[in-house]
Amino acid sequence: MSWDFETDAAFEAQLQWMREFVREEIEPLDVLWPDDVYRQPQREEVNLLLRPLKEQVRARGLWAAHLGPNLGGQGYGQLKLALMNEILGRSQWAPRVFGTQAPDTGNAEILAHYGTPEQKAKYLVPLLEGDIVSCYSMTEPQGGSDPGGFLTRAVKDGEEWVITGWKFFSSHARWAEFLIVMAVTDPNSMPYRGMSMFLVPRGSPGLDIVRNIGLSGEAEGDGAHGLVHYNEVRVPAANLLGEEGEGFAVAQTRLGGGRVHHAMRSVGICQRAFDMMCERALSRTTKGSLLADKQYVQGYIADSWIELEQFRLLVLRTAWKIDRYQDYQRVREDIAAIKAAAPKLINDIVGRAIQVHGALGISNELDLGRLFLMQYAVGFSDGPSEVHKATVARRVLKRYSPAPGLWPTQHLPTRRAEARELVKERLAGSPGQQ
Ligand SMILES: Cc1cc2nc3c(=O)[nH]c(=O)nc-3n(C[C@H](O)[C@H](O)[C@H](O)COP(=O)(O)OP(=O)(O)OC[C@H]3O[C@@H](n4cnc5c(N)ncnc54)[C@H](O)[C@@H]3O)c2cc1C
Repeated sequence: MSWDFETDAAFEAQLQWMREFVREEIEPLDVLWPDDVYRQPQREEVNLLLRPLKEQVRARGLWAAHLGPNLGGQGYGQLKLALMNEILGRSQWAPRVFGTQAPDTGNAEILAHYGTPEQKAKYLVPLLEGDIVSCYSMTEPQGGSDPGGFLTRAVKDGEEWVITGWKFFSSHARWAEFLIVMAVTDPNSMPYRGMSMFLVPRGSPGLDIVRNIGLSGEAEGDGAHGLVHYNEVRVPAANLLGEEGEGFAVAQTRLGGGRVHHAMRSVGICQRAFDMMCERALSRTTKGSLLADKQYVQGYIADSWIELEQFRLLVLRTAWKIDRYQDYQRVREDIAAIKAAAPKLINDIVGRAIQVHGALGISNELDLGRLFLMQYAVGFSDGPSEVHKATVARRVLKRYSPAPGLWPTQHLPTRRAEARELVKERLAGSPGQQ
């Protein structure tokens, strides 16, 4: 029997170092350049600051912890990564300093599995070094979360593929050295066998980033999420990643891990809001006593603590299962569950933190408003919660069967009659009755 909730002492020391390092060295970057995380390769000033930080992370053996040693990572597995991501999720810059930022993590996994040696040398190595950023271009304006509705086509023309169509919310397209694009190659086999994945280098003729969409509140045209027109973009045949028609399977390589990482970072977002709420409750006096002494506020704090701890345990158990089974499919129900639960957790805990701060909570002098919006970013990225909840329900229902007759198996009159019959038989067979 092994059932252990303790972190081993050596790794706990690493986490302790991370907590201080993120707070002291990285959070100042969040304050100064909250929107610049992905412009970093283009900004020498920021690079100068980042390089020594990344060196420290490497020296501690904490760089790119999601990857195996063959790719320059530590092979720590998902459980340790979950504990790390709880800390990194507090900060926008921290995942970049630790080499674990989305969507580069998933794109690196795809290139590692399906790239040619030349593609690995040109793109994977600098991506893993954190010298370039990449883009994952799947969602379409009309298709959204339903790949069955995708229209972007790739057609073979001699030794090239020609890609035509529109993609929406392709994060970091404007800064990416390459884009990984999902396109329909066989409309008759949609969605699962009809799509393929392609590597499109930056600057390919016909690659048009039409608009940079921002999140609500960001300046127009300056956002991170590209509306991309693939206007007969030609790529060599070798840029097909995986087999033709295997795009959906290739996507699953990255999405399983990506969804878990969103949930792990959500713990960090909520923990930060929770810490702010507790500090404020102990600082603000009204009607003669601290907010911390009001039962309503105590309720906010207790509910938030309980919900966060429940969620955290489910995330850690999911990570543990992935490490144990090494098979995302086997853990799909758990992954879908934590992905669906994360937005509500952020809504509830960050919402209460805003409430306890009053007007300051929604002002631009705290970043709780940005954190509150994260529930939607976490909720929509890699598929909306409804779809994940449907996955949970479908998989759970596989373990059940319909009632054998007219009444439910727990129908009390039926069970009572059966129990009476059972008792009568037992009594008839007991020595006292003979
Ligand atoms: C911050 C951010 C970053 C992103 N980055 C990327 C990226 O890098 N690359 C990329 O390709 N995409 C990216 N996306 C897009 C993301 O994958 C989509 O937003 C997501 O798949 C949902 O598609 P949609 O927004 O068009 O919503 P729709 O598909 O239009 O869905 C709208 C709503 O309808 C409901 N709904 C949808 N489907 C179902 C269903 N089956 N059952 C019940 N209800 C349903 C849900 O409430 C859903 O929120 C990003 C999104 C965000 C917010």
